[in-house]
Amino acid sequence: MSFTMLDESFVCAVCGEENPPLGYSARDHCRKCLCSLHLDIDPGDRLCDCKGVLRPVATEQGKKGTKITYRCDKCGKSKRNIAATDDDFDKLLDITRANAENLT
Ligand SMILES: [Zn+2]
Ligand SMILES: [Zn+2]
Repeated sequence: MSFTMLDESFVCAVCGEENPPLGYSARDHCRKCLCSLHLDIDPGDRLCDCKGVLRPVATEQGKKGTKITYRCDKCGKSKRNIAATDDDFDKLLDITRANAENLT
C-alpha cells in the first residue's frame, strides 16, 4: 500500500476555482469554497467510491493550524482536513461564525 500524497493543480467541481499546486503539501480541498470531494478512505488513497461533495461545517484551532471539519453531502460521513495557507480567510470565518451560532 502506498500513501502518496498528490500535489496537483485541480479545478474545483463545486465552484470551478482553478487551484494551483500547493507546494508544501497535497491540496485536499478548494481554496475558494473550501469544499472537498469524498474520494479517500485514508488521505490520498482515492479508494472511496462515494465521490460526494464534502462541505465544510466547522473549524477548529489546533497545534498544526486550523482544522476544517467536513460532512459528506451524499453519505453523511465526517472528515477533517487541515486548512491550507491560501484558503479563503473570509470563508473560514464564515464557517466558524455559522458553527458558533449553531452551538448557542
Ligand atoms: Zn471550490
Ligand atoms: Zn461520502
